Amino acid sequence: MNISRRDFLRLLGVTGAVAGGYSRVWAVPDDWMEKIISGPRIETWKVSTCGQCPAGCGIRVRLIDDIPVRILGNPIAPVNRGFTCPMGEAGLELLYHPDRLTQPLVRTGKKGEASFEPVSWDEAIKQVEQALTTLRREKRSDRFGFILGDGNSLLARFTEEFMSGFGSPHLFPWRPPAVNELGLFQGGGIFPALAFDLNRCDYLLTFGTNLLEETPSPVHFNSLYGSLKEKRPRTGLKMIHLSPRMSHAGINATEWVKILPGSAGVLALGMVYVIIRDKFYDQEFIGKSTINIKNIREFQDMVRRNFYPDRVSELTGVPPKKIIQLARGFESARAPLALSGGTADATETALFNQWAVASLNAVSGSFSTTGLWREPAALPWGPVRENAFDPRSRSFTGKDLKPGDNALPASWAAQALPELFPQGKAPELSLLMIAQADPVFQAANREAWEGFLSRIPKVVQFASFIDDTSSFADIVLPLPTYLEQWDLTLPVPNLPFAQVGLMQPVVSPVKGPRPLGDVLVKIAADQNVKILPGARLKSYREYLQARMKQIFNSGKGTPYFEEVSLEFLQEIRKRGWQVYSYPAFSDFWRLLTEKGGWWDPDGYPDADWRGEKKFTFPTLTRLDQLFTERSFQKPSGGGEDTGRDPLAWLEERAKGAEASDIFTLVPFTTLMNITGFGASQPLLQELFGLHPRLYWQTWAEINPERAMVLDLKEGDQIRVTTEKGSFTLPVKIVPTVSADILSVPFGQGHKGSGRYGKNIGTNAIAYLDYRVDPLSGRTSWQSTQVRVEKITK
Ligand code: SF4
Repeated sequence: MNISRRDFLRLLGVTGAVAGGYSRVWAVPDDWMEKIISGPRIETWKVSTCGQCPAGCGIRVRLIDDIPVRILGNPIAPVNRGFTCPMGEAGLELLYHPDRLTQPLVRTGKKGEASFEPVSWDEAIKQVEQALTTLRREKRSDRFGFILGDGNSLLARFTEEFMSGFGSPHLFPWRPPAVNELGLFQGGGIFPALAFDLNRCDYLLTFGTNLLEETPSPVHFNSLYGSLKEKRPRTGLKMIHLSPRMSHAGINATEWVKILPGSAGVLALGMVYVIIRDKFYDQEFIGKSTINIKNIREFQDMVRRNFYPDRVSELTGVPPKKIIQLARGFESARAPLALSGGTADATETALFNQWAVASLNAVSGSFSTTGLWREPAALPWGPVRENAFDPRSRSFTGKDLKPGDNALPASWAAQALPELFPQGKAPELSLLMIAQADPVFQAANREAWEGFLSRIPKVVQFASFIDDTSSFADIVLPLPTYLEQWDLTLPVPNLPFAQVGLMQPVVSPVKGPRPLGDVLVKIAADQNVKILPGARLKSYREYLQARMKQIFNSGKGTPYFEEVSLEFLQEIRKRGWQVYSYPAFSDFWRLLTEKGGWWDPDGYPDADWRGEKKFTFPTLTRLDQLFTERSFQKPSGGGEDTGRDPLAWLEERAKGAEASDIFTLVPFTTLMNITGFGASQPLLQELFGLHPRLYWQTWAEINPERAMVLDLKEGDQIRVTTEKGSFTLPVKIVPTVSADILSVPFGQGHKGSGRYGKNIGTNAIAYLDYRVDPLSGRTSWQSTQVRVEKITK
């Protein structure tokens, strides 16, 4: 293909300033610029996997003279089938970002001050290893901790093995739970969460779950929603979104039902009440799956006593008639499916909501519907391991999580580390590594994190930019982008097939940054620690290949292939998935690098949940036991016990919100910036405010009724006051939020993150009261009452 220089520069997004060697928007390394100016303009494509979120979408990168100019979706990647989201498209803005870190930095000022000086990699690693050697010599390896933003990647597994090699159990994954994860784990010991198949469902209830703008896989579910909507005239599928804010999940549903913040579980049990009263419940499943019949009777009594429609209506804001209508629709559906996640997880009733929704699925017969629910996709690498948090002692146990032992995954409580530390419930750390996470920005207990990080003698951060957490790091080590390194993304939770996406360098890495995996391999080698049994690794790529060899040896699955109609799958299934010929691992590996990954569609066409029957219905006894335990309910600095049963909590909330200027602050995520990291990229900052047409700023959404009472017009400025302070935002008046809430998008208001992220907009999370769900440890985003006033000039 012949491309003119002008076209080439346009493709790359480089503007007139290129004559000076750099664009204003992008920083293109000088040797690459040389190619831009004088190269022969040869077009090539490389496949890889997007690393902007954990969904593992396959990508194709267009290169001219080996320089990436565009990212598109890989049409044969099963999870995204050629589509990407805006974050996927924006990846090149990370690669060419003018503020990327390229040299290790060490602190020169006090903690909290972002003052650093550059050092060589040798010097930086020497300092890290000195800290490690001291701990090992003193036999205090348990004082070594690691917070890892779990990108659902092999790197997370590798880091876990790295930490065990050093004898430390203190790896804290930093991730949101999968859909239905909390309830299914605590109710039935299933971890990771079950997969579900929306294609088989005819009545979908999404309690807070926004599959279109949040993990586990927004691109997959956007495209699936599209085809489900198309087929709706034939299938009659009902999709009802129940949440305080409509969101894209509500826009794309057949109906949005407004509910009060935190009330999803009460509504679900209100529906259970109707189903029991109608005697429409799944007696066979409950008979087989409950621990004993006494428990189910007690459960029924508890529901009858507490969740009758009038009371549920008061607590949820949903009229009694509507509750009955929803329940009747659900009970008479052929394949009813209820999902709980997203906003329903970000409350002080998170675990209760999830149990309640799991109960609704059990009672309605959802769990008995063939193929609707599936076991989590497994790889031939042994079970997923995660640290445990014991809710009884309110402490991290330092042991592996085992279903049924009353522990919780440590990731649910990771944000509570600073709160638990002074109580002796979290480990005392002398060395903490942090990667792919920005707790000072992302956690609601910002001040506690600042204090916690200030007390740890050596904090080592791996990052691509100076961010809010960097100010508290002693050493900052620069990371390359996902376009310059090797990794694997693992099967996406909740999806009914296993996919492993291969991330491979599509360009020679920019000089300076080093992949986290390679840095850990070097440290392990220097310290004489073996990571893979029997192997001395030279690079993270070797580890990755060894893992893929296990998949190759298992004979399961296949590298991505072109056709995925069910008929085709059934046909090749008979042939043992041998779409390609790959007699040796080298053939298999070549195919992986050409196709972009591997997947195992086994069971996809006709998996049968009924044949498995491993789920144990969350019994009343179990609920009671966990409510009684009331794990870590003390807010920072002591204060009153905030642990309440959900009914009492909601009743109290209803009392406190009567004044016309009082709202519940409810932050929400958008597809432009799910984790907050998107703020570094100008395309995402531009798109962030596309719908409200409020660009490069944060806004507040308010319902028209309440706006009228406060005499607010579109675009007026409001002051929002919480116990932590106040901030000013422009107002957007929309009927898509319930009258009780003030909804504010999450993702802006960084103190760092490069020139496009720094000091743009407001981080509402920093103003939240720090509250946790006493049963699960999840941080609540819906517990803060704020006062709103119009700013008059
Ligand atoms: S959903 Fe996630 S993995 Fe897929 S394109 Fe978007 S950011 Fe990338």
